[in-house]
Amino acid sequence: MLRALFIGLSESKSLRHFAESSSIGQKMSRRFVAGTTVEELLQATEAVNKLGIRVSVDNLGENVTSRDEALHSRDLYHQLLEEIDKRKLDANVSLKLTHMGLDIDEKLARDIVSELLDHAVAINSFIRIDMEGSPYTQRTLDFTRELHRKPGYGGHVGTVLQSYMRRTEDDAKSLCSEGIRIRLCKGAYKEPPEIAFQPKPEVDANYVNVAKLLLKSGTFHGLATHDERIIQEIKDWARKENVPPSAFEFQMLYGIRRDLQETLVKEGWGMRVYIPFGTEWYPYLMRRLAERPANVFFIAKNILRG
Ligand SMILES: Cc1cc2nc3c(=O)[nH]c(=O)nc-3n(C[C@H](O)[C@H](O)[C@H](O)COP(=O)(O)OP(=O)(O)OC[C@H]3O[C@@H](n4cnc5c(N)ncnc54)[C@H](O)[C@@H]3O)c2cc1C
Repeated sequence: MLRALFIGLSESKSLRHFAESSSIGQKMSRRFVAGTTVEELLQATEAVNKLGIRVSVDNLGENVTSRDEALHSRDLYHQLLEEIDKRKLDANVSLKLTHMGLDIDEKLARDIVSELLDHAVAINSFIRIDMEGSPYTQRTLDFTRELHRKPGYGGHVGTVLQSYMRRTEDDAKSLCSEGIRIRLCKGAYKEPPEIAFQPKPEVDANYVNVAKLLLKSGTFHGLATHDERIIQEIKDWARKENVPPSAFEFQMLYGIRRDLQETLVKEGWGMRVYIPFGTEWYPYLMRRLAERPANVFFIAKNILRG
């Protein structure tokens, strides 16, 4: 019930405006968001890299409604790629197609991302196209495939599959047959039962099933989860099946289970942390609260502590 409440709140425009412009809202976001400026993001990235952890940076924003906003996102991502290269950070970028204008003009979004990918290829970096709600699933996969097919671009672009989606096993098989890099997560949006598993045990079982399929594919994939039980099962299975740690990486979100992130690195597993930054943090924070409503108390305690 609380999950549905927070996901509902994540879509409220008036609350979003209030939260993003209030100082208490900004304090709340700090637990999961690296700051509002590029400089703050880069400092957080450097600090995480020093722990032996790779990074994927994300400029928060989604469902932009004007061309200017989309072009602004484009410019910011070019700046991020430039800084990653200049500072030799162990980092790539994650972006959302609706942040690049998909809702207003599909061609605009495609042109922006193609151009960003040209930049990423030139500096030998990588772009991850995040997966949003189900209205965007097919378009995200189609576009990723199209980009991946461009000669020389193959290893530089990948996307995300969500284990709550019933279609994910089929999508994973087909993307793997094309050698496309996948980040597997459970899924953060509200989807109807016709297309998505609802009970958590089914989402988890599908996660493990698809994760094993990915790790057998010979392509480098990312397993994005904080679920300790699943991580243990994957580690045991990888050892038994002789899948080396260099063949994949675990991924987690900034500010969540830092203890587990460091333990995995010490054990020799690859680890990447997704670091979001920017002023438009409200929907992102609400989705994190939906995953773990107890975070409300955790955040409140931190604010009271000052
Ligand atoms: C690197 C990365 C990228 C992602 N990209 C996408 C994407 O493109 N599209 C998309 O739909 N979703 C994305 N997600 C979110 C994902 O779908 C889940 O909503 C989120 O990761 C929570 O699921 P879980 O696998 O951690 O498992 P859960 O079953 O939700 O949680 C397992 C355990 O992890 C811990 N935990 C989980 N979430 C939190 C939290 N917010 N705060 C504190 N502890 C927590 C708790 O201890 C919990 O018991 C991404 C997640 C990660 C890690």
